[in-house]
Amino acid sequence: MLDILCNLLGAAFLLPLGMALGSFFEVVLDRVPRGESLLWPPSHCRTCGHRLTADELIPVVSYLAQRGRCRACDTPIGRGVPIREAVSGLALAAPWAVTGCADPVPALSLGIGLLVAIWIGYGVIRARASSTARKGN
Ligand SMILES: [Zn+2]
Repeated sequence: MLDILCNLLGAAFLLPLGMALGSFFEVVLDRVPRGESLLWPPSHCRTCGHRLTADELIPVVSYLAQRGRCRACDTPIGRGVPIREAVSGLALAAPWAVTGCADPVPALSLGIGLLVAIWIGYGVIRARASSTARKGN
């Protein structure tokens, strides 16, 4: 019983951490190919330049609260963003939820491995799609 509680508490901590990491990787894959800084300017709408406030930066929750649109200009935000954030959170938290407290190192290693694999895979797919679009194929 205590193990189940421990596993759930750990997963409840890792879920938002994974979503925040997913949100960061989203920024990395958006800015690095454009040669932009990861730190400056702070998170903003690509359409109107509106600088996102703290309550607009909460992974998944902000997307749902804003109904998937920029608060300033109403431009839709891609559905993939919250999905990738949620999947990132689940990837990090799920192994811990199953066996974290009994086997913490394998659970955390698997979670980190899943998270990194998902983002490397997504980055490769995105780079190929971008390269194909440039060639006009
Ligand atoms: Zn906007």
